[in-house]
Parts: sequence; C-alpha cells; structure tokens
Amino acid sequence: MNPSPRIPGFRFLHSPGPTRVPDEVVHAMSRQPMDLADPRVDALIDVCEHGLKKLLQTERATVFMYSANGHGAWEAVIANLVAPGQMVLVAGTGHFSESWALQAEALGSRVVRTPCVEGTPINAAAVEAALRDDVRHEIVAVFAVHTDTASGLTSDLQAVRAAIDAAAHPALFVVDVVASLGAAPFDMDAVGANVVLGASQKGLMVPPGLAFVAVDEAAMAVARGNPTSRFYWDWTLRKSALGYRKFCGTPPLNLLMGLEAALGLISQEGLAAVWLRHQRLAGAVHAAVQCWSEGGAVQFFCRVPQARSVSVTTVLTGPGVDPEAIRSVARERFQVAMAGGLGPIAGRVFRIGHLGDINPAMILGCLAGVEAAMSVLGVPYGPGGIERAIASLVQD
Ligand SMILES: *Cc1c(COP(=O)(O)O)cnc(C)c1O
Repeated sequence: MNPSPRIPGFRFLHSPGPTRVPDEVVHAMSRQPMDLADPRVDALIDVCEHGLKKLLQTERATVFMYSANGHGAWEAVIANLVAPGQMVLVAGTGHFSESWALQAEALGSRVVRTPCVEGTPINAAAVEAALRDDVRHEIVAVFAVHTDTASGLTSDLQAVRAAIDAAAHPALFVVDVVASLGAAPFDMDAVGANVVLGASQKGLMVPPGLAFVAVDEAAMAVARGNPTSRFYWDWTLRKSALGYRKFCGTPPLNLLMGLEAALGLISQEGLAAVWLRHQRLAGAVHAAVQCWSEGGAVQFFCRVPQARSVSVTTVLTGPGVDPEAIRSVARERFQVAMAGGLGPIAGRVFRIGHLGDINPAMILGCLAGVEAAMSVLGVPYGPGGIERAIASLVQD
C-alpha cells in the first residue's frame, strides 16, 4: 500500500480537544525520562502541582494528577466522594453532563438530573429546586460541567454556587473544567468549588493522557468517610510527599514535562491575556457563524448568546445539510479538521474548536476553510462571514 501522501503545510486542528500542541511543549516532551530517585522528578511534579493551582486560582485545594483522560478524572471524583446507593445531582448541559451522570450510575450512584434543554446552559433555579426537594440531604454532591463541549456553551458557576447556598444544602460543588481551563475565566476559590477536575488535551495544549483533580478540605473529609472500595483513584492514598505514591506508581514523566512547558507558556502570556485572546478569537468565529446563519441553512446550537463558549462553537445544520459532509470536505480538501456532533446531536451539528495554541490568522484560515467546504457542497450560507470575522478582530 502507498503511504498516505504528505500534506503540504499543515492541517488546521479545530477539534475542541485534542488541540494543537505548541512546539515548546513537543520539544519539552522529547526529553529522556529520568529514574524515579532523580530529584528532577519531584521538582517536575512540584512545578506542575503549583502551576495547576495557580491556573485554577486556588490556595486551599490539593492537586492530584492521574495517568488518565477526563473520564478518569470523572471516575476519581465518583469513587472518592460517592458510595454506591448515595445520590448526586447532575446539572444538565448536554452530552457531557449526561455522560458523567451515566458513569456515576454505572458505578452505583443514584443520580438526580436537572433538565437538559438543548442549547441552553445550567438552569440554576432547577438546581436550587432539586436541592430543596432533597429534604433529607441525601445528595452528596452537585456535578456541574463548566463548558459543555458538545453543546458549545458555558454555564454561570456563580449562579450554581448561589443556588446551593440559597437551598442551604450541604452538598459539595464539583466542577468539570476540562474544556474551559486556560480559555474561559475560572477561579476555584471565588466560585466556592470543593472539587475541580480537568485534563491535558484541551486548553492546556498538552497531548491526551494526563488528568487532574483539585480537592479542598471539605471534599477530602467526605472522601475519608467514604467506605467505597478503591485504590488507584484514592485521594487519601495519593496524599503523600512521594512522587511514586502521588501517582500510585510511575508518574507519566513526559506528559508532566509537557505540562510544565505549557503552564510556563500560559504564565508568560499572562492568564488575563490568554482569556482575552480566547474571547477575541471566539468573537470572530461567532461573527462568522452569525453571518452564515442569515442564509437560513446553519445556526448557532447555543440559543443563549451570553452562554456561547470561548472554546468551541457548535453549529446546527438545517434539513438537507449534512454536517458530516461539511466536515469531510473541510478536512480532506481544505485541511481544516473540525469535530462532529456527540450523543443525541450526532449528525445534526459540526463543531469548530477555537481553544489553546491559536491566533487570529489560524482562526481566519479555519473559517475560510469551512466557508469553502460549504461552497463546494452548495450550502446556502449567508455570504461575508470572513469579512465579519475580520471586522470583529479589527474592532477589538
Ligand atoms: C473532553 C471532555 C471530557 C472527557 O475527556 P476525555 O479526555 O475525552 O475523557 C469531559 N468533560 C468535558 C467538559 C470535556 O470537554
């Protein structure tokens, strides 16, 4: 068989994860692993733990990292906090909240869900009502996905915190920042989250395979009292000064080298500047999609403009417009790789990722590639999306 032909230039990666890995991170990861007694191992783990805490804006939480993906971090949270038969409340946002709920059920939790209304963020009033209904305080934790990557929307975490407080419910507040950390503003301590979880391959710009949780004292106390059998995920076992214990075995050294480099890049640029860059680039994507939608064939999946994510834009296609065809022409002919729909919205949307190591030229190239693909397929999109994207970037 012929090897696949070389792609001249490079293919634009606009999946919302894995995202593009900066050269500095690739180079950092190409170093040799060290033996575990080498003091550089502990120093590396230390830098990553401190960098993550800084990024999460927490002084009070302990960071645990895993050789795992985001689903591993979900499992860590469930295994440590929820004994089989106990209850969690999952705030509906879309495919990711539902997948987390199903994973909790598979591990024996009882799950209360607030309704998931397509294209809308967390309904904080529904969270408050569900907590008030739980008069016996059986709900151990509220699980909230900050940015639902399938729906392309970001929820207001302060409103969820306020709902828990208004219900005077003792449930822990657990937040998934897999798709928002390093892209959208987030402050663990200010938002009063007890546990936060994330993964390497989205806003953190590191290849997949490294997950983490940040856990405060209240959540550690719940974990200590939880009799569920567990070992690999166990926070109390991992709370140690020894690297080997922290990772329940060999740490994923090269991913940690990559994370160290990525955290360095974020810190060099400045967190506020990173957030502003994401907001500007998302603004350009939203301007183009708004323009395209005027042709009637495509529209925003997220129906609440303020909730549109700075990480990913989900575009809903109308009858007779196949999002998979748009993706495949964009990728194969124009070298723009986007993501498709997940769960119940598979085959109805395409998703443009715009987080991580991205600049205006890349966004304009991506949008032009998508427009070109829609032209090839005769999709009646409102013309002038690129001009609107440029106007949005110029005015910022
Ligand atoms: C990607 C993602 C996950 C799952 O992460 P994996 O690494 O694919 O297991 C969980 N939550 C959110 C919000 C995500 O975007």
